[in-house]
Amino acid sequence: PPDVEALGRATWSFLHTTAAYYPTRPTPHQRANMLNLIHALPALYPCSNCAEDFGDKIKENPPDVSSRERLSRWFCERHNEVNEKLGKETFDCAKVDERWKDGPPD
Ligand code: FAD
Repeated sequence: PPDVEALGRATWSFLHTTAAYYPTRPTPHQRANMLNLIHALPALYPCSNCAEDFGDKIKENPPDVSSRERLSRWFCERHNEVNEKLGKETFDCAKVDERWKDGPPD
């Protein structure tokens, strides 16, 4: 079976980074592709309990693919739901760009 922790770190890195570089004003095609990517996770993510819970969460909070900022926040909030479920500290979503795009201020 996959290493669920390493898989999770790699997947969040991919998702947050992809959101960080998503367009400020995405085209309908870009929005549709992002929705497809998100909706594929509950069907394909190789941790069945993770996938099932994530599927429930995206039904409660449908993805906002309307802009880079909104999508980044949406992923941050979903990741925080998993953090809470696992008893981890929540992340300050004001800092997503610093973590996943710009790096620390100098
Ligand atoms: P991770 O949680 O992987 O975080 C990696 C880095 O992201 C952190 O070091 C931090 O810098 C940054 N970060 C943390 N929180 C946020 C945030 N809210 N927004 C932006 N950046 C942030 N594991 C399970 O055991 N059960 C599950 O049900 C489960 N569901 C998952 C669902 C999905 C969709 C994904 C992608 C992963 C899931 N995982 C689940 C894995 C879990 O979320 C962690 O990835 C794993 O436990 C490793 O945790 P970590 O403490 O190393 O850091």
